[in-house]
Amino acid sequence: MQETMRIAQRCILPPSGPNFAEGASQYPDLINLTIGDPDLATPSQILEPAFEDARQGHTKYTATKGDPALREEICRYYQRAYGLDIALEEVFVTTAGCIGMTEALLAVIDPGDEVIVPDPYFMIYPDQIRMAGGVPVPLPTCWEEGFALNPQRLESLITPKTRAILLNTPNNPTGAVYTKENLEQVAEICIRHDLVAICDDIYTGFVYGGSQFVPMITIEGMRHRTICVNSFSKNFVMTGMRVGNLVAPPHVIEAVDYLNGFLMYTAPSISQRAAIYALRDAEQITPAIAAEFGRRLEYAAERIGRIPGMSVHKPQGSIYLFPSIRESGLSSRQAAALLLEKAHVLTMPGDEFGACGEGYLRIACTQAIPVLEQAFDRIEQAGLFQKG
Ligand code: PLP
Repeated sequence: MQETMRIAQRCILPPSGPNFAEGASQYPDLINLTIGDPDLATPSQILEPAFEDARQGHTKYTATKGDPALREEICRYYQRAYGLDIALEEVFVTTAGCIGMTEALLAVIDPGDEVIVPDPYFMIYPDQIRMAGGVPVPLPTCWEEGFALNPQRLESLITPKTRAILLNTPNNPTGAVYTKENLEQVAEICIRHDLVAICDDIYTGFVYGGSQFVPMITIEGMRHRTICVNSFSKNFVMTGMRVGNLVAPPHVIEAVDYLNGFLMYTAPSISQRAAIYALRDAEQITPAIAAEFGRRLEYAAERIGRIPGMSVHKPQGSIYLFPSIRESGLSSRQAAALLLEKAHVLTMPGDEFGACGEGYLRIACTQAIPVLEQAFDRIEQAGLFQKG
């Protein structure tokens, strides 16, 4: 069709390199390890009562800040999980994490404000920051430091325009889980420079091997300068339900309510009912899902450890592994292209997640162990990463 309609500047993307997944569809035996959507079914103890509520009439607009019963449930959950008393005025129900993050940024970022983002990062953050008029500033993290936040490096990036830091722990793509001590170092900097912490708390249930999710909002002095962006997508396998929530100071919630009034108006009502049942049983549902991902990550990490030229940290959190292929001398893109061509396994090149992702691949463990087994058999047999 003739393209006569002019597209707005904000949708005109800079030219990108060749598509790493190009040609993937030609392999009928392709194993796709790029998918961030858990393959498991949404638990029926979430679905069944939500369907029943829908039959009873919960199919209309809800209150704009969210179904009051869900907001109360969120307060109760914060008390149980983190010992934190939050008030209803601090809670806003969103249309999942994507909209929650965009609305949080729109609520506190003015044009030209700088937002620090640990690199590698979930790839949509820079776009979300730019959409709010902000300027993304990558904070390099590295393998040698376990992808932790380096306080000196953070401090060196701060300018009079720095307004916020965007944190994601457990992290996509690196799998790092920030320790309490590390978060305290960052908090001290946030307090000293009057910064907001915007925390993408989407993988909170997925921690392994003694790692612990510590919410930044619980660190001393951070309560009134933290925005928690929560989502039911991963912890409860509810990606398609599009529901999440923010926890933030009441005046921020009011600003988000204003924005949401002309963006989404309300999150889907049936999904909000589902979220109520998810939280009521959270201590039973999420650990069972996490145990399955934990087994997969352990399995995949052990297989990676046996592949010459590839290495990976012990899994700490999330549903991803971020193995290094730096020893091979290949770039991320070369490695991903070779894996696709020779092993018919699709992975994400690490540089998709920022400059610091170069030399890595992201492997999503959203496939069952027998599928992972097949994928790693093929990768091992292809012997792609041995030097020379
Ligand atoms: N944040 C991170 C780090 C993610 O990995 C994802 C999805 O993969 C999202 C946010 C968005 O999730 P949702 O909009 O389904 O809540």
